[in-house]
Amino acid sequence: MHFNELNLSQELIRAVDELGYTDMTEIQEKSIPLLLEGRDVVGRSNTGTGKTAAFGIPAVESISPAEKKTAAVLILCPTRELAMQAAGEIRKFAKYKEGVRTCAVYGGASMDKQISELKRGANIVIGTPGRVMDHIRRRTLKLEGIRTVILDEADEMLNMGFREDIETILADIPEDRQTVLFSATMPPEIMAITDKFQHDPVQVRIKTAQKTVELIEQFYFEVAMGRKTDALKLLLAAYTPSSAMVFCNTKAMVDQLSDELAKAGFRAAGLHGDMKQAQRTQVMNSFKNKATEILVATDVAARGIDVSGVDAVFNYDLPQDNEYYIHRIGRTGRAGKSGAAYTLITGRRQLSDLRALERFTHASIQQMPLPDKSDIIAMKKEALINTISSSEASHHAYDILDRLAANGIDYREAAARVINSAIQKKIDSLPEFEAARPLRKGRRDGAKTVKVDISIGRSKRIAPNFILGALVDATGMSGRDFGKIDIYDEHTTVEVPESELDYIIDSTDSIRINGHQVQVKAWKGTELPLRRQSSHRSGDKPRFDRKAKAYGSKNKKDIFSDYIPNRKKRARNKH
Ligand code: ADP
Ligand code: MG
Repeated sequence: MHFNELNLSQELIRAVDELGYTDMTEIQEKSIPLLLEGRDVVGRSNTGTGKTAAFGIPAVESISPAEKKTAAVLILCPTRELAMQAAGEIRKFAKYKEGVRTCAVYGGASMDKQISELKRGANIVIGTPGRVMDHIRRRTLKLEGIRTVILDEADEMLNMGFREDIETILADIPEDRQTVLFSATMPPEIMAITDKFQHDPVQVRIKTAQKTVELIEQFYFEVAMGRKTDALKLLLAAYTPSSAMVFCNTKAMVDQLSDELAKAGFRAAGLHGDMKQAQRTQVMNSFKNKATEILVATDVAARGIDVSGVDAVFNYDLPQDNEYYIHRIGRTGRAGKSGAAYTLITGRRQLSDLRALERFTHASIQQMPLPDKSDIIAMKKEALINTISSSEASHHAYDILDRLAANGIDYREAAARVINSAIQKKIDSLPEFEAARPLRKGRRDGAKTVKVDISIGRSKRIAPNFILGALVDATGMSGRDFGKIDIYDEHTTVEVPESELDYIIDSTDSIRINGHQVQVKAWKGTELPLRRQSSHRSGDKPRFDRKAKAYGSKNKKDIFSDYIPNRKKRARNKH
């Protein structure tokens, strides 16, 4: 259905035309007529389906001459970026319509400027819940005239802890208003808001999960624990995307990873909610105009951000929520273009999470081997040969060559030195990384096991995954090669293959765990005292016994379930 089949004013049709929109997207087709009628709507659709226009066009269209001086429409968005983006788009719809004044209000930006915009009579106000509350308290935003309120990305706003603000705002807006809510997911908290604050809402649901990811090729790489950063560097060096997004689950990881990538010579920058607004805007602009090639971001910071031409999305961490996976990979392959999504996983638990994602997206995620460092070097050489082959030299270059020759550096040597400066930096920035781990005999071979003793324990807030991560990192062995881990107050024992005992002790010579320097020695104890200790309520008893599955909490299980000894799994499979 074309936009001009709607009963829109000429001003709106013209603006929409100018944006190059011809046909409506599904969510637009279903919700714009309802919104124009004034109905309450709950819209559920994935990112990239055109929700901004779905509520923005009716919002602009609905502004009447009488509303020139008062806030009539309030749009709440979860982040500053989204508020800015929505405001920008709505201004485009309003280009030819007189009397529409928009104002974007969000934290981290000048209060005075927002106040003066509101005072001048903004009638469409777009903002984040926190800052909107601020303006309400200062009476610089008056709710009396609001007759339409729109919650964009409602689920995300709840995830970010805006529930109370949203409820306060909704409770203070006159009751005979129109309430519109858009969300990618419909958790019970959203339903509760719907029940409490909407009148006879129409549900509009668009299932686009498959559609959005159809054109995106999805791959995964199995990476040894603690080696994801190295693996990512290899992937970026091998695929050389000119615009890529990398997703992490924490702000700290975003900082650390963007730093490391920048140090390795990639044009990378991080984006997350703790950054100053000016900095975030600068990072986004630099990514949009392709000066920054790699944007490392958290889900929240990147939610809904619409940048065209993203070649690839990397999931450094698996998303905590399946829906997020779709949001993430939807950043590439936009506007019908193809894209690629690469996911890094470590351990069996993550592999099974990945399989669940496959079922969720109805798409296959294929395993790929990590690129080999020598292949990448060969590619870089090839690329340099091509560049040099297709370039020309000026007389200045020949002049320099001749002068160098006069100083005893012949042409071949001179060329080699210049080429070296072009290639060596690229080679140096590649991680020392063996894609194929040393083939060590691990527990999987059913080999005889012994225990090592590690001089750190529960008193230093150690968890099994810290121990295992450090061991894998130091030895290059796989997590599966290690067996049972028992953590005591001051020390920890780990079951290891007997054949690897010397190797493990050698290679953990300078191991650090959770910031502490520790010693790894062969364990001289016997099973007996251990069992006796664990029967005591207090004392130096093991905090964690995997065989006993001592912990029931979900998080702990998540951490540990990668490391169930292989032998046990095999035994289980037999049944
Ligand atoms: P969502 O909020 O659902 O994630 P957006 O509103 O950000 O989606 O829209 C995604 C992209 O699609 C934007 O670049 C927008 O300009 C574009 N778009 C929206 N509606 C249409 C349409 N009817 N035709 C073409 N492009 C559209
Ligand atoms: Mg949106």
